[in-house]
Amino acid sequence: MTYHGRFAPSPTGQLHFGSLVAAVGSWLCARHAGGQWLVRMEDIDPPREVAGSAASILAALPAFGLVADAPPLFQSQRIEAYDVAFEQLRAAGQLFPCWCSRSELAAGGGLHRDGQCVAAADPDRLPAWRLRVPDIEVAFDDALLGPQHENLRESVGDFVIRRAEGFYSYQLACVVDDTFQGITEVVRGSDLLDSTARQIWLQRCLDLPTPAYRHLPLVMGADGRKLSKSEQASPVDPADPLPALRQALAFLSVPVLATATEVQDLLAHALANFDPALLPQCSGHSFA
Ligand code: GLU
Repeated sequence: MTYHGRFAPSPTGQLHFGSLVAAVGSWLCARHAGGQWLVRMEDIDPPREVAGSAASILAALPAFGLVADAPPLFQSQRIEAYDVAFEQLRAAGQLFPCWCSRSELAAGGGLHRDGQCVAAADPDRLPAWRLRVPDIEVAFDDALLGPQHENLRESVGDFVIRRAEGFYSYQLACVVDDTFQGITEVVRGSDLLDSTARQIWLQRCLDLPTPAYRHLPLVMGADGRKLSKSEQASPVDPADPLPALRQALAFLSVPVLATATEVQDLLAHALANFDPALLPQCSGHSFA
């Protein structure tokens, strides 16, 4: 099977250093494996979307030498596929409607468990739909971080598949599209490590294949906090790509050609010297 990797940004701001690291890391793994590198725009959460950021992220990637092997997949165009997966789960009795508010759940410890709602059904409001999560341990081997396991009932409980406003959850859209795009390995930041067990469980519920997972070290701000697009953290400058690209490669412990004056030369040298087994598990680097 040909290796298929992907970079799946959410359009919640411009490309920042943390997402450049995820893009470069996934690109290197895919190119090293002689496979395909795909881009997916995760634009299914309109309230969190920042106007213009999908276009700005997609325009920035080629400036950093990261050119996908197919046109980008927009999740906003994939709602019918999520409807099908949703109906499959509902028909199998794995979903239930839920009117519980966050504050009602917080009063009972925060998690929704065993399909037990605290709020009564309210015919005047649309419900959220949650997945019944059993008391089982989900285990997987992260290519970088080693064996992982999570008991989903303990950690997240019955999680939301479709919000009351009608938006599908990241977890559902992600597994449907990882299958649709034929992804064989997911390379992304470790901030998503705790989504992986939920995604593997959903793949089992939907009878979908489980790809390999490789979670890259998280880029922290100088203040020790995670960089996030929603905080408008350190956007990288596509007009002057070399400094940020050098820093992204160094962050991933990939050799950086000091004399390179072109993005292509920097990437070619990085790829020629790249070994996924040498990616760092964690990093003391920070980005100011
Ligand atoms: N859209 C997610 C983000 O930007 C990443 C999803 C993924 O790589 O699975 O944080």
